[in-house]
Amino acid sequence: MKDKVNILGVNVDMLNIQQSADRIMQFFNEDKLHKVYTPNSEIIMAAYKDPEFKNMLNNADLLTADGIGVVYASKFLKKPIAERAAGYDIACEVLKRINGTSHSLFLFGGKPGVAETAKEKLLEQYPDLKIVGCRNGYFKDEEDADIVKEINSSGADLLFVCLGAPKQEKWLAKNGDFLGVRVAMGIGGSLDVFAGTAERAPEFYCKHGLEWFYRLMKEPKRIGRQMALPKFAATVLVHGKKFKQD
Ligand code: UDP
Repeated sequence: MKDKVNILGVNVDMLNIQQSADRIMQFFNEDKLHKVYTPNSEIIMAAYKDPEFKNMLNNADLLTADGIGVVYASKFLKKPIAERAAGYDIACEVLKRINGTSHSLFLFGGKPGVAETAKEKLLEQYPDLKIVGCRNGYFKDEEDADIVKEINSSGADLLFVCLGAPKQEKWLAKNGDFLGVRVAMGIGGSLDVFAGTAERAPEFYCKHGLEWFYRLMKEPKRIGRQMALPKFAATVLVHGKKFKQD
């Protein structure tokens, strides 16, 4: 666990965007499912309160720091993560690398039509990308088996699961054993960004760790969710050092 930092019981990889993409490219060489999640402080707080969810995160093959709060926590715990490695950014780097190769992608999640629009927009940016399937993220539990079948019969080896946290992690914990893909990335609202139905914060805000502030200005009703950030900071300050770092 030399290369991981234990943040309130969640073992986060100390990797930046490029290193995370390197790791994912290696995952393609192993014939098994690799799960990739990118927790922010809200998700780590949820895992701190829910041992089952915490185990789901710790069972991932790659767990990166999606949020400035997680980066600061790693510094406070003396195992510094160099930069935020957001799911969206890692996904873009992986897409750049697989464009024009034999790897193929399935887009799962978002409101009806979002995955299809994301596909169109992604193909404008990465014209040689093989996108072999799309499925919206609104379904009943009984449909799980059909969704797994659809993904497997597409032949994809990369799956974006964009159901938001913790739904995407729970879906993969339940259905992962039946999937034929080699890499499944739980990357929240990324399909909305690819599709252009949601905006990412301008670079200035991302660079200065202020994306949360930008999102709050755009969507003031997120205030409830964002209260997780100060709670997370206080919990790390008070309890963070009780968690053993190997
Ligand atoms: N979503 C979904 N199915 C659901 C609930 C949510 O596909 O049952 C999608 C939703 O349309 C959105 C994404 O999951 O595209 C969640 O976005 P959000 O920004 O809330 O997630 P975060 O990136 O913050 O985890």
